[in-house]
Amino acid sequence: MKRKKILGKLPIKAMTQSFQTPIEDYQSELNRLKFEELADLLPIIKENEQNEYIGGAYVYGDNGTFISNSYLMPDPSSIYVLRVDETYYFGCFPVSIYSSTPIPLSQSSANERENIVQSIANSLGIYGVNFQTVHANGPTRYGDCSSSGSITIYTGSNLFNNCNYWEIVSVLMHEQYHQNHLSSHATIQNEIDSILAGINHSGYTFCSLSFINSMLNKILKLEYFKNTYGYSMMSDLPVNWQQ
Ligand SMILES: [Zn+2]
Repeated sequence: MKRKKILGKLPIKAMTQSFQTPIEDYQSELNRLKFEELADLLPIIKENEQNEYIGGAYVYGDNGTFISNSYLMPDPSSIYVLRVDETYYFGCFPVSIYSSTPIPLSQSSANERENIVQSIANSLGIYGVNFQTVHANGPTRYGDCSSSGSITIYTGSNLFNNCNYWEIVSVLMHEQYHQNHLSSHATIQNEIDSILAGINHSGYTFCSLSFINSMLNKILKLEYFKNTYGYSMMSDLPVNWQQ
């Protein structure tokens, strides 16, 4: 059905219809057929992929189950949570009945955030994610990756204030870059490259401007310390380098 819809937008026939000889008519019919054949070869964009690019809101169950992309919510690219009201059992299969009132991610509990972030991480193929409430440096620290490759996301950090799906994706991709480049762990260059990995994906335009700005700002500061002072390790930086 979708393919027909895309084809319907091609105005070949309409453009050529009025001044045609029979041969041209045959030719345009042939072109039309070719386009239909061509359309058969094109990949059909899955509904959820389409929504990702258009920016529908993301609705998750409080248990981390992805429920749908919705256009009915006020903020596109935002995460909303539906809490499980009741669970029925068909034999041993649990069936969750969700509340009809979605809450923004910013109002969710730490446990609900863990479930949802774990679910997003798994959908991106990112594993080894752990959770803590707040980093010792405060709520502006969203996540980190240890020298052994274990990722920690801070459920009490400001990352959840914007309820933005793509900002969570960014932070996970940032930590995944660390995870995949442990040999340069804790170098300033590794941090710069991780920040770039976090904003170099198709959804970054759906992140808030303040999020993107803060990431670019961090890169500028890290480049400054690296180039001006010749620092190479994150531990060389002054404690308050982010301020
Ligand atoms: Zn980092």
